[in-house]
Amino acid sequence: MLLALSIAAIAQTKAKNVVMISVDGCRWQEIFRGADSVLFYTKKYRQQDSAAMSVKYWGKNVAERRNKLMPFFWNTISKQGQLYGNRDLGNLVNVRNKYWFSYPGRSETLCGYYDEKIDANDYPNNPNENVLEFFNKQKGMEGKVVTFASWDALSRIINRDRNGMLVNIPGEKVKGNNLTAAQKLANELQNYLPEYFGKTVRFDAHTYALTRSYIEANHPRVVHIDFADMDEFGHHGQYDSFLDGAHYVDAMVESLWNYMQADPFYKDKTTIIVYPDHGRGLGDKWTSHGTSAPGSNETWMAILGPDTPATGEMKAKSQIYQDQFAQTVAQLMGLKFTANHPVGEPVKTVFK
Ligand SMILES: [Zn+2]
Repeated sequence: MLLALSIAAIAQTKAKNVVMISVDGCRWQEIFRGADSVLFYTKKYRQQDSAAMSVKYWGKNVAERRNKLMPFFWNTISKQGQLYGNRDLGNLVNVRNKYWFSYPGRSETLCGYYDEKIDANDYPNNPNENVLEFFNKQKGMEGKVVTFASWDALSRIINRDRNGMLVNIPGEKVKGNNLTAAQKLANELQNYLPEYFGKTVRFDAHTYALTRSYIEANHPRVVHIDFADMDEFGHHGQYDSFLDGAHYVDAMVESLWNYMQADPFYKDKTTIIVYPDHGRGLGDKWTSHGTSAPGSNETWMAILGPDTPATGEMKAKSQIYQDQFAQTVAQLMGLKFTANHPVGEPVKTVFK
C-alpha cells in the first residue's frame, strides 16, 4: 500500500479536497455571452413574465448580460480562478467523444477517457474506471468520496455496483443512524417534490440540499455533484427556465464556496471545478444536442482553488478536452490517476 501511494503521489499541492460539478447541457454561449438575444425574445421559448425576466437577465451588452446570469462566475471566479471556453476569443473546450450526449460525456470526463463503445444513455454499468473510485482507493479517502446526482444514470456511469461508493440518485434517501436535522429534512422533501421531468430526474435544488447537508455533517474529501435542470428545460424549449437553471447553479456554487471558505476543514485547501457534459445546438436547435445539433460538442470549464492562478477568463487561443479533467483533478490532489484504460493529460494552465 505504501509503495502504491508513493507511486501515485506526484507533487505537493495545497488542495486536500475537490468538488466536481457537472451541469448537464449548459452551453458555453450562455456562460460567456449571457442571455441569447434571439432566444430570449422568442415567444414560444418563454413561459414566465417577460418584463420580470428582462429585469433579471437582460442587459445592453454581453458583459452586463453574463454578469446578471452568472454573478459568482463573473465577480469571483473571473477574478480568483479561471474560465475556459470563450470561443469568441478562440479559447476552445470540447468533448472528445463523437456522440455529444449525456452518458458518453460524463463517462469521458470522469474516466478521463473516450470509449467509443459507450454510445447510449441506457448503457449498462461503465466498464471503465473513473477518477472518483481512484480517489476512494487512496489512504485516508476511503468512504470520503461521494456523488449526489439529479439524474439516475449516474449509478451506472460511476458503476457503484463495482466500487460501492455513495452515489445518491433520484428516489433515494441518504441513510444513516446519526443524520442531522438538515439531512432529515432534505430526505423528507423528496416525498413532496413534483416529478416534473419524470422519475429518472429530480430538481437540482433538491440534489443541492442533500449534498450540502451531507457535506456539513460528514466533511467528505471529494464531492461530485451532477445537476440536470438545464438540460431538461432545454429539451422542453423553456429558455427562461433554462436561464434560471444557470443562474441557480451559479448561486449554489457560490453558497457552497462561501460555506467551505468559512469551514477550517475546507478553507483554502479545496478546489471547485464546474463543467457540462456536452453543449447544445444553435438557433432553434438550442433545445437539442447530439450529432444532429451542430456545435453541441463545444463545452467550457470553470475552476477555483488554491493551486490555480487567478488568470480569470482565458483569452489565449488554445484547445482543451473534457477527457483532461480527471487527471487535472487527480494532480490537484497530488496524485497521478491510473486506470484500466489510458487517461488524458492534465490541463497544464490550471497549475501555478
Ligand atoms: Zn446531457
